[in-house]
Amino acid sequence: KAEGRGTWRFFEAEMDARMQQRRRLELDLRQALAAGQFSLHYQPLVEVASGRITGFEALLRWQHPERGLIPPGEFIPLAEETGLILPLGEWVLREACREAASWPGGVSVAVNVSAVQFGTPRLVDAVAEALAAAGLPATRLEIEVTESIMLQDNITTMAILHRLRGLGVRISMDDFGTGYSSLGYLRSFPFDKIKIDQSFVRDIGKRGDARAIVRAISGLGGSLGMRTTAEGVETREQFERLRADGCTEAQGYLFGRPVPGEAAREMLRTAASAAAQATAAA
Ligand code: C2E
Ligand code: MG
Ligand code: MG
Ligand code: MG
Repeated sequence: KAEGRGTWRFFEAEMDARMQQRRRLELDLRQALAAGQFSLHYQPLVEVASGRITGFEALLRWQHPERGLIPPGEFIPLAEETGLILPLGEWVLREACREAASWPGGVSVAVNVSAVQFGTPRLVDAVAEALAAAGLPATRLEIEVTESIMLQDNITTMAILHRLRGLGVRISMDDFGTGYSSLGYLRSFPFDKIKIDQSFVRDIGKRGDARAIVRAISGLGGSLGMRTTAEGVETREQFERLRADGCTEAQGYLFGRPVPGEAAREMLRTAASAAAQATAAA
């Protein structure tokens, strides 16, 4: 009995410590935006047929003064629960558009937008303002959404998707196959792109079922007029299989890790001079 009580106290103390840690992080998060602790890293997206960089995905980073770099998986859920994702998400949009405006005309930027941002019509104005402030054509912005947005109030979500599309922005379905996958919503909204989750890509060389799923999604995307991007491509072997299976675009460490804006610009310069040399040699 005494032992049981001791165990309970231990759990209580543990819970307390965790709650405190969470509150601490929440306080830190509240002032991180004003303190300039956020930045974006950019990861290349590569066209499978040509090997050309078609764009970069903007990925949020938090440089915490004591804890160092905190990955988005650890603070975005907290930002969503507290509503901080709204100002933070607008900052991401402005910053990503501003950076992309310095790239060549054919290169787009993909921005992740949280389901919480879809809960408010403000999103459409925020996107339009970010584009206008940067002088970036809407066709060079891709908004990445996850399957979870389709679970929310359908009419509002649909209206927002259509208004974004109306601006000329492209819409991608991110992490496809991991959420509440329903093929129905591919009919209810014509996404421009399906991003096949990296869990399938990881196993593509090891498991027949993963390969069958990747092939099926690519085929489905192709028939519906959507591009398909494989996420998390790390090896040449995975890339060759994806190419054979009809994926149109790839993203992963094989082509480049997420890097600061300056390094992304350098990557584009290198690609451009390599292309110029190839043309001159031909
Ligand atoms: P995501 O949108 O699916 O982004 C892809 C994630 O896969 C990134 O993780 C990227 O660094 C990682 N990745 C890319 N290539 C590879 C690879 O070859 N191997 C492996 N193992 N991983 C790879 P990251 O940057 O930690 O972001 C995690 C998630 O956080 C994102 O998943 C996205 O859902 C969310 N996120 C990131 N930035 C934002 C943002 O600005 N707003 C919102 N709402 N969510 C964001
Ligand atoms: Mg994404
Ligand atoms: Mg993804
Ligand atoms: Mg993901």
